[in-house]
Amino acid sequence: MSIIEAKNLCFTYGINTPFEKKAVKDINLSVNEGEVIGLIGHTGSGKSTFAQMLNGLIRPTSGQVLLDGRDIWENPKEIRKIRFRVGMVFQYPEYQLFDETVYKDISFGPRNKGMNGDEIDKTVRKAAKFVGLSDKLLQKSPFDLSGGEKRRAAIAGVIAMDPDVLVLDEPTAGLDPKGRDLLLAQIMQYHNERKNTIFIVSHSMEDISRIADRIMVMNKGNLEMFDTPRKVFSEVEKLESMGLRVPQVTKIMMLLREKGYDIPDGILTVEQALYEVVNLLKREGKL
Ligand code: ADP
Repeated sequence: MSIIEAKNLCFTYGINTPFEKKAVKDINLSVNEGEVIGLIGHTGSGKSTFAQMLNGLIRPTSGQVLLDGRDIWENPKEIRKIRFRVGMVFQYPEYQLFDETVYKDISFGPRNKGMNGDEIDKTVRKAAKFVGLSDKLLQKSPFDLSGGEKRRAAIAGVIAMDPDVLVLDEPTAGLDPKGRDLLLAQIMQYHNERKNTIFIVSHSMEDISRIADRIMVMNKGNLEMFDTPRKVFSEVEKLESMGLRVPQVTKIMMLLREKGYDIPDGILTVEQALYEVVNLLKREGKL
């Protein structure tokens, strides 16, 4: 069942000024409950603008975002309520931490949602556990955490609101490869348990190919493609013309295929590549 839809969704910055900029142009799509949607595109292609419209942070200049079939701006006074259902984690969300302790920061959402003491405590600890923050860290000031821990605390704050749709704008930006893999695995573990819908903006084709059910490819405000990773990453030339690339392993396998090796199309992970290469070598009697 579809949970979020975009209908002729447009956003223009600085309307009727010399700086007018059409950032999102006529996007139409429908996303099902429980899907993980990857959002890729060159810098300036409109990803953040699109993401911010999903939870009503900015209002479309025309068109609609529907949540469970209803325009989220139907009653503008209620737009804050939408933010409990569609949670947004920004790029560098650590700058949003402001309370005395990490615990208080994470409990901000549940408190505002009207939960009582016990519920708040359970929710905060569960959210912290999802992102791998220990109980000891919860009592620290957010300013005393490392970069990766701050990021985790900010994500836990949004998870604690238990949103049906979670929008993550470059959640792993600036983390080292180990931290990136760990955080991504924790987000996916959360997703597997909660089964909520996730939009994830990322520059890492490797990450997106591993976790997304479908990928939105944005270019100059347009939605150019919306399909499975396998389909999207088989369009190498199209992606390259938009300044994007395919996962490195996909490219290597494609080059081998072009050289006449019997390897299938659309390989996205190192594990798949290894499997195919081993099979190929066995078939050729070299292993
Ligand atoms: P992305 O997230 O893909 O990098 P953005 O949604 O941030 O893209 O930006 C899309 C376009 O809108 C870009 O051309 C950008 O310069 C412009 N833009 C973004 N934010 C603003 C703003 N606050 N005012 C004016 N133009 C903006």
